[in-house]
Amino acid sequence: MTTIQSKPQIISVALDIPLYQTFSYIHDKPLANGQRVLVEFQHKKVVGFVWGEDKPTTYSPANLKPILEVYPEIIFDDIISLIKFCATYYHYPIGGVIFNALPKILKQAKPVNVSPAKSNQVPSSSPRMTSNTSPKMTGEQQAIFDDISKYLTQFHPSIIYGVTGSGKTQLYLQLINEVLKHGRQVLVLVPEINLTPQMLERFQTKFSDKNITILTSHATPRARYLGYLAAQNGHAQIIIGTRLSVFTPFANLGLIVVDEEHDQSFKQNDNLRYHARDLAIWRASQNSIPVILGSATPSLESLFNYKQGRYHLYRLNNRAVANASLPKIELVDLNFHKTNHGLTQVVIDAMKERLTRKELSMVFINRRGYSPILSCNECGWVSTCKQCSTTMVYHKVNHNLKCHHCGYTLFIPPKCPSCSSQYLQALGDGTQKIEAIIEEFFPDARIERIDQDTTNTKSSWNDLYTKINNNEIDILVGTQMLAKGHDFHNLTLVVGLNIDSGLYSYDFRASELLFTQLTQVAGRSGRGDKKGQVLLQTKYPGHELYQYLITNDSPGFINYLLLQRKNLHLPPYIHYAMFRASGREIAKVMDYLQSVAKLMQKIAIKGVTINPAVPSVIQRLKNKERAQILIQSLERQQLHMLFDKLLPLLQQMKPKYSITWIIDIDPYEV
Ligand code: ADP
Ligand code: ZN
Ligand code: ZN
Repeated sequence: MTTIQSKPQIISVALDIPLYQTFSYIHDKPLANGQRVLVEFQHKKVVGFVWGEDKPTTYSPANLKPILEVYPEIIFDDIISLIKFCATYYHYPIGGVIFNALPKILKQAKPVNVSPAKSNQVPSSSPRMTSNTSPKMTGEQQAIFDDISKYLTQFHPSIIYGVTGSGKTQLYLQLINEVLKHGRQVLVLVPEINLTPQMLERFQTKFSDKNITILTSHATPRARYLGYLAAQNGHAQIIIGTRLSVFTPFANLGLIVVDEEHDQSFKQNDNLRYHARDLAIWRASQNSIPVILGSATPSLESLFNYKQGRYHLYRLNNRAVANASLPKIELVDLNFHKTNHGLTQVVIDAMKERLTRKELSMVFINRRGYSPILSCNECGWVSTCKQCSTTMVYHKVNHNLKCHHCGYTLFIPPKCPSCSSQYLQALGDGTQKIEAIIEEFFPDARIERIDQDTTNTKSSWNDLYTKINNNEIDILVGTQMLAKGHDFHNLTLVVGLNIDSGLYSYDFRASELLFTQLTQVAGRSGRGDKKGQVLLQTKYPGHELYQYLITNDSPGFINYLLLQRKNLHLPPYIHYAMFRASGREIAKVMDYLQSVAKLMQKIAIKGVTINPAVPSVIQRLKNKERAQILIQSLERQQLHMLFDKLLPLLQQMKPKYSITWIIDIDPYEV
């Protein structure tokens, strides 16, 4: 080993500061990229990470502060590359990306005091079945397995497009098994909502002798850090986690699975607005490993990539369980069928039938709470949030009003706050109201409500499964939480209420989302050997979306949507970015955005359209007024060029008022 001569070095350090730069410090020897250090910044001791890529500044060393402490932790090379990619692609400050990506414990300005002896491996308390119990693969599963197995050591992005219950999860398990046999690790990304005990149990049963580590936002900082270490040093063979786990370092990563790849929760909607699926693809390409995107309703973005020849596509067309078939989806036309408290006789009869047959029914309604609005009969006052431009939802159970955007909660006013009238009424239906109505119709039925308000903990899910397995529930009422991942073999009826709102929306993705949700909910029924039925109450039975849905024609609907997007010049055919700004007063925010738009016009990149600044749909959120500029571009490269040129100019153009802004590449919020 050669010793490096002790000579003062200028070291660039990335800090958690919303500025597009690193900061220079002095140290007596060179430091490796990604090294965790302690420095002083604005009279505070803060953590930073050596970021040697940046050109050192021209300061003379004498003017620089020293690095106070060099900690032993260092960011792994492949995460360094991922962070660099994120900073460039999302045009986000490097320090911000680093501090988004790392576990909390590494961001604290003190030595890490966690022993890596134990990790948050799923405890295997009771002896588990071995992997021999896996069912024999179906012909469809086997063919896909055989093909993907050929590409275990190369970048092979593939979509597994399989109807609900077609055995996608089973197929992942087999492929994961294959990768583990080669001594490599696996990352499984799932939407938070999908991380059900049922799913974990399947992994634990199949891989009872392996270290499976779960990384969710609910994990304690210590557990999260231990999971991070276990992946980094190779002890964890399987990491199952939500969005943020895409930043986990691995000693020897061999496969990434993105389950329910269409799910919008993979996109982060604040700070660093990254998309975990897209980052997963990038990581797989860097590591030359396969990446699997699984879904019954793949995103248009992914299917477009397939059509462009960038991804492979595998289809699972049949349900895996021998006698299971896709449920029959029927529309109940609200123009012909009268409703009684929101339910048609068709629906009531179908539920009655299930009760007699002792089968499970599920009622899907995509709004929690009792009513979305509390309103005054006399003066028309409505319950709006004082921090957001949204209505507050009436929660009868807790007797309060709650904003579902910021969480602000109020007791129900005894009389109208505006005119003192006593006649306040609840408008519209939420899960609580539907639950109450169904209780009236079926007083003897055992009803369980499933939404964010009832199902926040793992134990509540466990209780639910136990009850369902013991046949202690007749009817489930809930939000889209019911739609994901569950496999209840006794469920034979799914009812969808108030589903039409997604048909006509300012958000061009709304119908894609509605189709996905309805396919997923419908897919919960008839998974065993009993036939499933789905009843959807609608005022627009002729709408194309429903026509594709009732024929289980998801490929047809996707082609229809793609054509529509192409004709209307929408993503994925063109690329979007949103420049968002917020502040205390809308006029000042708009003012600022108008000058930003002018700058963008001046930069004038060919093929890039700069739209006028407009207030956001939810203009006021958490006491901030928000507005945005939509930027469209035929080529992704041009979009990046615009921001590369814009950023240095923006740094100079300090807003006169306190205004925060952010660039959102491939935005989901429109
Ligand atoms: P998906 O993930 O596509 O919804 P799953 O993997 O959950 O599908 O499979 C649906 C049901 O079919 C599960 O009960 C699963 O145990 C069963 N299953 C999957 N593959 C097979 C197979 N090859 N043979 C028998 N049953 C299977
Ligand atoms: Zn009033
Ligand atoms: Zn609010």
